[in-house]
Amino acid sequence: MNYLPIFIDIKQKPCLVVGGGDIAYRKITLLLKANAQVVCVDRLACKSVQTLADEKKITLIKRDFESADVNAQMLIISATDDAALNAQVSRLAASVNIPVNVVDSPDLCTFIMPSIVDRSPIVIAISSAGKAPVLARLIRAKLESSIPNAYGKLAELAGDFRDQVKAKFSKIEDRRYFWERIFSGIVAEKVFSGKVDEAKADMQKQLDDSNATDIGEVYLVGGGPGDPDLLTFKALRLMQQADVILYDRLVSEAVMELVRRDAQLIYVGKERDNHSVPQDGINQLLVDLAKQGKRVCRLKGGDPFIFGRGGEEIETLAENGIPFQVVPGITAASGCSTYSGIPLTHRDYSQSCRFVTGHLKDGSMNLPWNELAVEQQTIVFYMALKGAQHLSNKLIEHGLRADMPVALVEKGTTPDHKVWTTTLAGLPDIVATQPIKAPTLIIVGEVVKLREKLNWFDASN
Ligand code: SAH
Repeated sequence: MNYLPIFIDIKQKPCLVVGGGDIAYRKITLLLKANAQVVCVDRLACKSVQTLADEKKITLIKRDFESADVNAQMLIISATDDAALNAQVSRLAASVNIPVNVVDSPDLCTFIMPSIVDRSPIVIAISSAGKAPVLARLIRAKLESSIPNAYGKLAELAGDFRDQVKAKFSKIEDRRYFWERIFSGIVAEKVFSGKVDEAKADMQKQLDDSNATDIGEVYLVGGGPGDPDLLTFKALRLMQQADVILYDRLVSEAVMELVRRDAQLIYVGKERDNHSVPQDGINQLLVDLAKQGKRVCRLKGGDPFIFGRGGEEIETLAENGIPFQVVPGITAASGCSTYSGIPLTHRDYSQSCRFVTGHLKDGSMNLPWNELAVEQQTIVFYMALKGAQHLSNKLIEHGLRADMPVALVEKGTTPDHKVWTTTLAGLPDIVATQPIKAPTLIIVGEVVKLREKLNWFDASN
């Protein structure tokens, strides 16, 4: 280790910044975040630094740096473009053992400024010892995106209860166990979903009655069309903390790979006309599992609120007073079209887009065909493979051109992603003669033609 990472308390402590330009400004704002008393020395200051001085947030001394300026400082930062001056500041500071940082000159520094992920009071500092600051920043970006914002609030809440928890559990292991349960349970989840007051009340309850079990919760999670990279951060987090996962055929194997390793997996089927567990059974199962105190993830393909019967599932939960969260997912229309090089709308070809169920009921579809059979519109049919002939006939009958382009996307966004293109008149024939299987999405509209130019995804890669 080239440097020792430490966090210094500089609250109300004098910190000197030599230089008043833009880079100095960035360092000053950082020091101010940690509530330092900043003194800035420069003959000229940039507008932002001047504003801070006008607002009395810093002391600005408008003259050249003098040796005596280093005296009694807690930290010194030199951020000038004068190499000789930077070296002088560094030498003077080092001679009186005051930590000094010279921007972009690791050799002149006795401390360096890390990249920061700020979830105060949680702060993560990343340093490459000045060797690859851009890499440190990339790592920072990764952490930024994987650590929910609310971790700070959670730590804050934990801080509020720290003394109480200490008083309640004298053994360190008992305390650790308690905190682990809090940080991976309903209290944390409530903080993450913005219900901080409820989280506080729950925390107090659990502390008062440490035998109390968490009440369960259901996460209705959209798993997207197949490619696991299309999951949301929230979906992934909830999938990884659930005790039980209820999934069906539409959830891809690659997405299932990402659920918590030791979670109980329950397959609830849903093949067309052959539901392994009928919808009522699924609704009830969710309620029963949650009542046992389980954290249940109901993982669905695409978006749970788009032809996913998600509404019915949470209605039953609401009726039974079970807490739940819903996480949107990328719906098949969006995933399949994008991965096929077909924009659903386009200034020249389509100004609106309709998502329609093509599920056949008694051999027909009860749809407003007059509204669908119009130019300059894209229609996306879900569950329409069996009804392809019917929808083709109906659209043509209601006036849509027989040569309107059509795409069929099978297992979109997965490694088995396949696309067939045809016309409205050719649709029944292609479905009858090609080995096209569910899940398949049918896209009707002029935009399908754009695939010739815009296709980018090659499933075999
Ligand atoms: N809630 C889902 C849709 C469920 S309905 C969503 O938002 O995507 C099931 C239908 O979705 C299938 O019959 C098929 O038409 C479509 N579908 C879902 N995933 C698909 C995929 N990866 N590729 C092609 N079609 C898909």
